[in-house]
Amino acid sequence: MKKTYIYISILLFGVLSLKPAAAQDRAYVNKVVKQLSSPKMHGRASFKNGDHIAAKYLSKEMKKAGLTAFSPDYMQEYNYTINTFSSKMDVMVDGNRLVPGEDYVVSPSMASLKQSYQLVWLPDTLTQVRSVYRFADTTALAGKMLVVPEGVRNAYRSGIKGVPAMIQTVDGNMWWHVSRQQLETGNAALKIKKEKLPQNTKTISLDVESKLIIERPAYNLSGFVRGSVEPDSFMIFVAHYDHLGRMGRKTYFPGASDNASGSAAVLDLARYYATNKEKAYYTMVFVLVSGEEAGLLGSRYFAENPPFPLEKAKFVINFDMVGTGSEGLSVVNGKVFPEAFALFDVLNIKNNFFPNLRAGGESCNSDHCPFYEKGVPAVFLFTRGKENQHYHNIYDTHSQLPFTAYEQLFGIVTGFVDELKNMPFFKKEL
Ligand SMILES: [Zn+2]
Repeated sequence: MKKTYIYISILLFGVLSLKPAAAQDRAYVNKVVKQLSSPKMHGRASFKNGDHIAAKYLSKEMKKAGLTAFSPDYMQEYNYTINTFSSKMDVMVDGNRLVPGEDYVVSPSMASLKQSYQLVWLPDTLTQVRSVYRFADTTALAGKMLVVPEGVRNAYRSGIKGVPAMIQTVDGNMWWHVSRQQLETGNAALKIKKEKLPQNTKTISLDVESKLIIERPAYNLSGFVRGSVEPDSFMIFVAHYDHLGRMGRKTYFPGASDNASGSAAVLDLARYYATNKEKAYYTMVFVLVSGEEAGLLGSRYFAENPPFPLEKAKFVINFDMVGTGSEGLSVVNGKVFPEAFALFDVLNIKNNFFPNLRAGGESCNSDHCPFYEKGVPAVFLFTRGKENQHYHNIYDTHSQLPFTAYEQLFGIVTGFVDELKNMPFFKKEL
């Protein structure tokens, strides 16, 4: 009798406190992406502590969302070493100044360098690093810079043995990355847009300043909504909020798609579960990590030092680049956890969310990986679509990111989480 009474009370209370069904909030997600990718966050890396500015902003958003913190300000501090370009970034080709980020990028590992070089050209048809030695005397390259055609794979990224300074010409796609080390002093590597380096170019001058910051502090953020039925089990949503920062004072990498989009989605889910607590069957944990671009450092640290028992985690969903969707949704690790993928797929077909769902194999290419390596079932979701193909470049801006299938993404994720309690524990397919 008493039990029934309590039950009815809960039901009534549920009805009385019923608000209009809060679901995804596209306007909120857009606002967060706009903030995170704005110049005042400097590309969310070491330049002017843009990543720390972002962390403070996200901490406030977690508080506003109503998340409970595991630690003061939701923060977890750790450190890593990073090479950073916070000052001079000047490249002149026969006296013409090139535009950083648009016309060229420098190797993220470059040490400070102020030097002019004569150019040594290789044939345009070259494709193999080993053929370089047939066309250039690498013992006589002092004061010279070798121009390597685009077809020679990995030349810019990995360098060429015995070649201290090189340019790789490329047809566009001026993407950048970050590095935790420095090349030897005096060594240089750049990618330059082909049309900005005509074949008759004689000299190039570099004036680049960089600094290797040793063990710089970085912050992960996490908060939770306590589970209404099984509070000691955990469902984890994760995204990285860091990006590439600035390449010199003027050029910044906004990182709207990568990964302001995923961070915003995680915050939106946090707001949803915090206002619909009955939906939080398990304790819902929302994790925003840094250090992804430098090699999954934040998520690795978090998985090594979780603020709750990770063995009680039911599932991890990582969001990284989720602002498109016209062509579908990819589920990395979908082949490793076929039952989980099947659930995503059923939800997709039933609700007509995405044109297709693609199961990816095991891949340590984003922040799901450190959790997965600790034995927690984990997938990584990213959307596909030609409506935004900017990757690690200066055009990855808020205005270029349409969030084509945001409602669908939100629907499939919350649908998945709703069903999780009815599913067997997901096992890795052996
Ligand atoms: Zn990235």
